[in-house]
Amino acid sequence: MSLSLQNTFTLTKERFKPIRQELVKVYYCGPTPYNFAHIGNLRAYLFSDSVVRTLRYLGYKVQTVMNVTDIDDKTIRDSQKEGVSLQEFTEKYTGLFLEDIKHLGIIPADMIVPISTAIDTMVEIIQKLLDKGYAYLADDGSIYFSIKKFPKYGQLAHLDIKGMKSSVRINNDEYEKESVADFALWKAYDAEKDGPNFWGAKFIIDGKEILVSWRPGWHIECSACNLKHFGPEIDIHMGGIDNIFPHHENEIAQSEAYSGKKFARYWMHSGHLLVENKKMAKSAGNFYTLADIVAKMPNEKPEIVYRGFRLMNLQTRYRESFNFTFDRLTAAIATVKSFDEVLKRLKHYTPESGKIFRDFREKLQEYIQAYIEKLEDDIGTPEALTIVFDCFGFINSGIDSNSFSLEEKNAIIDLLHSFDEVLGLFDFSLLESTEIPAEIELLLMQRNKAKAQKNYSLADSLRAQIGEGGYKIVDDKGGSHVEKV
Ligand code: AMP
Ligand code: ZN
Repeated sequence: MSLSLQNTFTLTKERFKPIRQELVKVYYCGPTPYNFAHIGNLRAYLFSDSVVRTLRYLGYKVQTVMNVTDIDDKTIRDSQKEGVSLQEFTEKYTGLFLEDIKHLGIIPADMIVPISTAIDTMVEIIQKLLDKGYAYLADDGSIYFSIKKFPKYGQLAHLDIKGMKSSVRINNDEYEKESVADFALWKAYDAEKDGPNFWGAKFIIDGKEILVSWRPGWHIECSACNLKHFGPEIDIHMGGIDNIFPHHENEIAQSEAYSGKKFARYWMHSGHLLVENKKMAKSAGNFYTLADIVAKMPNEKPEIVYRGFRLMNLQTRYRESFNFTFDRLTAAIATVKSFDEVLKRLKHYTPESGKIFRDFREKLQEYIQAYIEKLEDDIGTPEALTIVFDCFGFINSGIDSNSFSLEEKNAIIDLLHSFDEVLGLFDFSLLESTEIPAEIELLLMQRNKAKAQKNYSLADSLRAQIGEGGYKIVDDKGGSHVEKV
């Protein structure tokens, strides 16, 4: 097998062929830092994380770029409401976003680019679009992209433009397919809305130099970010399905009209996180932040809630939308705990040194091969997880029957590390030896002796003493050990 990816552009699953084998260029649209991210937003980044981790796991050298939409209708509006500068405001929420993704084990992009640092490239693109006749200055003082000049407009979202009623032009960044229109590349300054936020740019229009303090539209920001950091062609562009239209459609129009080259080879989109079958959104008021779901689970450590949420997403095909429920999260947390139990069992399982048998080696190879095949089928994380569950069953029964050698145990640990390069779920610190105080070890020894002598009342009182010392006894088939409570 080899890697295949569902391409939104062609609506087919295609074999992945990078433009240059040496370096795969991957871009995904980043957050708009005007508030806390909700867990629906975070799902989009768990998706891109799975894709990037899989590519790296399969041996590709990958470079990732993510923008931060720090100039936008909402960031400008809310920074003024809070009475702080746009920079201070967006830096605060960008920092909180980075904390959230860290909690979820999402590997941050190699380059995280606030789009306010790419204004020069936006101006360069817009000037060329003006020169080539794709862009025009309208009466309202904004510069628009003329969609009729770009015959391929609508191909990503699979729109039949001819059959659609189109409004003339649109200044908002977000709009529905029904309002297909020329869209703003560079918006006229509106003192009431924009306050102190404007960027001076010089454009040459019809031979005349025009210098005005304006600001960019949303779509041009991602085109510029790509061009500045990757050049005109990239391998994979990702985002949530709501980004297909108009955002990604408009990105293609701007980037390809500018360069004359195919912008992104593969377009991948993740489904939505829903609440009672409705898209989770700030505007709908039906959202939870990561901190909200932690607060709603007071009996669980935050760290386990994060891993539960991560697992819940990996258990669903990335293109499917699914409902977030606390029952579902609770079930995922229970599964994460069962992984932890297996790691703890492995830690306390201390078999004799011996051989790695051929059957055992072949079994492990089968697991890894099946795991890779599932991932290669359009990042099939739910199916890859079924292989991992099967493998955990194999580990548990091997420990039960004490059938692994020390070398085999170590091979299993290596296999789990390998699985986790994509999953990012296991807590390997559970395998590290922790110092147990000598007096607790002594109490455990005395208790095991009492139990062997069937002196159960003494055994119970020693168990209680161990409990008072902050430890609990775990009896397993391989023997007894203590764990910190
Ligand atoms: P924003 O910060 O609004 O620009 O959104 C950041 C990312 O979150 C985009 O890729 C959106 O497609 C994605 N997104 C927004 N709402 C949801 C949702 N309910 N489920 C999944 N992804 C979402
Ligand atoms: Zn974007």
